[in-house]
Amino acid sequence: MVEPAPSQLETDALRKDRFHLIQAAPVAGSIGAEARELITSAEDIFVFDQSGRKLIDGPAGMWCINVGHRNQALADTLRDQAMSLTYSTPWYTSNAPAEKLAQMLAERAPGDLNHVFLTTGGSSAVETAIRLVQFYNNVRGQPQKKLLVSRQGSYHGSTYLTASLNGRPRDHDWMDGASELVRKLTCPNPFHRPANLSVEAFEDFLVDEFRALIAHEGAGRIAAFVAEPIQASGGVLMSPPNYLKRMRALCAENDILLIADEVVTAFGRLGHIFASEDVFGIQPDMITFAKGVTSGYFPLGGVMVSERLFAELRRSNHPNANFVHGLTYSSHPIGCAVAIRNIELLEDGLLEHAREIGPYFQEQLRTLEELPLVGEVRGAGLMAGIECVADAKAENPLDLDLTVGKRIDFHCQENGLLVRPLINMCVMSPPLTINRSQVDMMTDALRKGIEATAQDLIRERLWRPA
Ligand code: PLP
Repeated sequence: MVEPAPSQLETDALRKDRFHLIQAAPVAGSIGAEARELITSAEDIFVFDQSGRKLIDGPAGMWCINVGHRNQALADTLRDQAMSLTYSTPWYTSNAPAEKLAQMLAERAPGDLNHVFLTTGGSSAVETAIRLVQFYNNVRGQPQKKLLVSRQGSYHGSTYLTASLNGRPRDHDWMDGASELVRKLTCPNPFHRPANLSVEAFEDFLVDEFRALIAHEGAGRIAAFVAEPIQASGGVLMSPPNYLKRMRALCAENDILLIADEVVTAFGRLGHIFASEDVFGIQPDMITFAKGVTSGYFPLGGVMVSERLFAELRRSNHPNANFVHGLTYSSHPIGCAVAIRNIELLEDGLLEHAREIGPYFQEQLRTLEELPLVGEVRGAGLMAGIECVADAKAENPLDLDLTVGKRIDFHCQENGLLVRPLINMCVMSPPLTINRSQVDMMTDALRKGIEATAQDLIRERLWRPA
């Protein structure tokens, strides 16, 4: 692979960044000395890098820039709110944007999810949900109900507790975690199911596995099942058709709370404010969200909580038990004002547009399956994963070259597209404002990037088409 010459990339800004800024997820061998692409500005679905290249923002930042970059209405809202009330403490006071946002969210969340605790992002939302589950069980006299069930392939955050739930390859190789609190189930991705199982049989296997875990540990010890409706950062992994409904039913039968982690799937990515009920037909006990709630214009997240749980807490024998949990920036008025305006923008045509363009986006990306390096293109709405395999027929993961995603990203950038590389996969989740001709541009750039990567692999004798 041809790397850009360092001299091209060496600017003052990059040199400073290399010495002082600790980047997310650094690798020991280059820690404190790693230069990353400098993005200097952005407009709608495009970002511009420091050399002036205009690139489609394939991942929408990090699944978050849902209304697109440089949205005037959101920028005005940020400024106006900062000039009226910048901040008020959530520990002793409240503020009007937070109250209004809570009401809007309760009106849009499924079932009786009428309450919301606002946080600063996705990890703090999932962390809050877990701490609330622990508090709930302590107060209702079930302190032994502490185990958390998650799945291989999942991502729930980067705090100690949320990271303990994560299950992507290599997540735990070098990192500690509260493993004593967590039990992990098989990744529900049918693409990597055992060869002898149909998708239906695989779904039965997954549900039976959860049932067996409950029998083994005892329902009295399991507090919650935490699940992304689509495992996003694992590679847009779609579970079998009735899996979520069946897992939901098992939770209900065994007094296990279902936390749907909708940090990615909420706020338009699947064409709805919340996807749990509208897309997957389930009513969770809690829903965590972040990212798209402000389209990334302000760090904000939250957890929707069922009225049923609060009613139980109120009825408990411990009226003075204190949920000692709050963040300085919970209910931040600027973030809440931005979220309110963002929801208005989504509901003013963008959700409808996402529902309309989503099938076209999926259909176009699926044409890439004809490339010999591509094993599967999957997804829903405006999120998709492209998984490369050494031999598409064998459906084996491409383990001969774990950097294939990075190679594709490099070549795609030459063709005007930024992708999110993920080992042997590329994840695509553009701003919801994307139109048909831009979907075509994106697909074309991906096709060229994958073809160029295949040529590299052949030249370097790392791979041959089957
Ligand atoms: N949950 C899911 C499903 C996510 O995809 C992410 C981040 O990508 C998180 C939680 C953590 O969110 P944050 O990075 O805002 O802390």
